Amino acid sequence: MLATVMGRMETDFLVIGSGVAGLRAAIELAGFGEVFVVTKGKVMESSTWRAQGGIAVALAEGDEPELHMKDTLRAGVGLCDEEAVRVLVEEGVPRVEELISWGANFDKEDGQLSFTQEGAHEIRRIIHAMGDATGEEIHRALMQKAREIENIKFFEHTFLIDLLVEGEECSGAFIMDEDRRRQVISASATTLASGGVGQIYRDTTNPPVATGDGISIAYRAGCELQDMEFIQFHPTTLYLSSAPCFLISESVRGEGGVLRNSEGETFMTEYHKMGDLAPRDVVCRAIFSQMWRTKSENVFLDMRHLESGFLKRRFPNIHLTCKKYGLDITRDLIPVRPAAHFLMGGVRTDLNSKTNIKGLFSCGEVASVGVHGANRLASNSLLEGLVFGKRAGTSSSECLGRRTSAGKEVPEKKGEASIDFDITKEALQELMEKKVGIIRCGVSLQEALEELEEWDKTLDVPLSSQEEFELKNMVTVAKLITASALGREESRGAHYRSDFPSTDDKKWKRHIVTKKEN
Ligand SMILES: Cc1cc2nc3c(=O)[nH]c(=O)nc-3n(C[C@H](O)[C@H](O)[C@H](O)COP(=O)(O)OP(=O)(O)OC[C@H]3O[C@@H](n4cnc5c(N)ncnc54)[C@H](O)[C@@H]3O)c2cc1C
Repeated sequence: MLATVMGRMETDFLVIGSGVAGLRAAIELAGFGEVFVVTKGKVMESSTWRAQGGIAVALAEGDEPELHMKDTLRAGVGLCDEEAVRVLVEEGVPRVEELISWGANFDKEDGQLSFTQEGAHEIRRIIHAMGDATGEEIHRALMQKAREIENIKFFEHTFLIDLLVEGEECSGAFIMDEDRRRQVISASATTLASGGVGQIYRDTTNPPVATGDGISIAYRAGCELQDMEFIQFHPTTLYLSSAPCFLISESVRGEGGVLRNSEGETFMTEYHKMGDLAPRDVVCRAIFSQMWRTKSENVFLDMRHLESGFLKRRFPNIHLTCKKYGLDITRDLIPVRPAAHFLMGGVRTDLNSKTNIKGLFSCGEVASVGVHGANRLASNSLLEGLVFGKRAGTSSSECLGRRTSAGKEVPEKKGEASIDFDITKEALQELMEKKVGIIRCGVSLQEALEELEEWDKTLDVPLSSQEEFELKNMVTVAKLITASALGREESRGAHYRSDFPSTDDKKWKRHIVTKKEN
């Protein structure tokens, strides 16, 4: 994958990604040296910016980190790392308070923070901003803080091609800059915060930048990955032929919205004692079985019984988006169905965001520190970005001054050909949707894997454009997810196998860890 290298830059710390995790890491690192934040689009192009529902944190009266921990562990179905969850829920409190002190404006009622509820939370502990635009407000506050710090330099439209790794040591990265020039950035420490993989599926809530580059690049570099089979599908995205796949936040159900099938019946109490607020995997499978039973392409979200002024105030973004497509959330049933949303697994790290490669750290959705297990508890990922973004910053700051080899022995390849391959992004997305989706089985997973392996080989050539690199990364990530899903012969959390429908704690209460063999 190495490209012709045209130039070199040096910095103390390199951060890949400008979502919550990357920004929080950069702010921490700026106290120790110069930080380059590299991001492939505009700074706000991220899942963070799109987050709606809120951020879970034990700040409500009667709540405490222990209770938050209990809900997180239960949602993770035996695969969470308890120590990591403890760090998340305990450090989550000061991280959110700090964010508020930096100017993040969360919604209030009578001068106090307003809390909402989402699936699998036993109590109302989710704070939100601008009704249903929490991510935008968190991103704004972090960017404002980061912009005030001279040490942080942003490089927009700059694409990470590969990490610079020799002998299990990372000394920076190969990037393609705004003018499509290839460069090496050498750094004492590199933090990968490049987000998720949703774009490998046809229906996804994720932004176009979520092509899984970080996972694929880390895998090529020799990082350990874990839990790649666990993809969370969000139960309710707007389903209209004229509209893009738009998320309808779970907090709509938290505020009393209910699901109905195409025959107008409510159904969630048949599937789980928490009804419409059951864990996401349960709701997704229930929706699928109702769609199948009633031979329809979607179910409906019903908010008509809620007070219309409240709905417009509480969900302004959802209200306006639905209105744009001819739907009034106060009067109409909203057609919804599940879509790929979040990767629980990723680059394996310890509690200090260290990977198995020296000088390489990872945090946020691209990383897997073990807080989500087999199923992420709603609104825990923005918190993960804040907590482990800061931890990544603290631990990578210890690398300051580390001698790196970047720029000394960089292999250069010349004359990349423009490749004519007939693999398309759409074909990949369709394959993943059909064969590696919410309900999986060995036969289809095997078929998908064979196809993906062929595609991966075809793409094992020098690539030239960002689109080609992304396609290669998407195929690699799809292959890793499919292989892990095929390996896990049980059902657990978000991973459901129709040929192994039970949970098998004896054999499978463990992670599947993947590492590239050289
Ligand atoms: C629609 C939606 C709603 C959500 N709602 C919630 C919610 O209410 N609460 C909650 O907790 N979570 C929510 N989530 C999940 C949460 O937003 C994400 O998991 C979290 O924001 C991830 O943060 P991150 O910093 O790890 O990644 P991101 O915010 O996705 O940032 C990744 C960054 O990496 C950059 N990047 C990627 N590849 C490259 C490359 N090759 N080179 C350079 N840069 C690259 C991207 O451009 C981007 O800037 C939601 C997600 C979506 C999509």
